[in-house]
Amino acid sequence: MHTDAVLDGSDGCTFKECPQCHKQPEGFSRHDCRKRTVLRVVEGVVYKLFTLLTRWLCPLCNHTFTM
Ligand SMILES: [Zn+2]
Repeated sequence: MHTDAVLDGSDGCTFKECPQCHKQPEGFSRHDCRKRTVLRVVEGVVYKLFTLLTRWLCPLCNHTFTM
């Protein structure tokens, strides 16, 4: 469900303050997506799951961060 929201762009950035410059822009721009691998063990079997994390761009300092 989270990955679908990232793919269709319906996930929003919940950060109000930039983690780099600590200023509060009106919003952050979508920059890129990062793939994240998660291992989950269910009844002794290891499953490898893939998800996407959105990279956001601060318009004030041009730094990117992952939420
Ligand atoms: Zn910033």
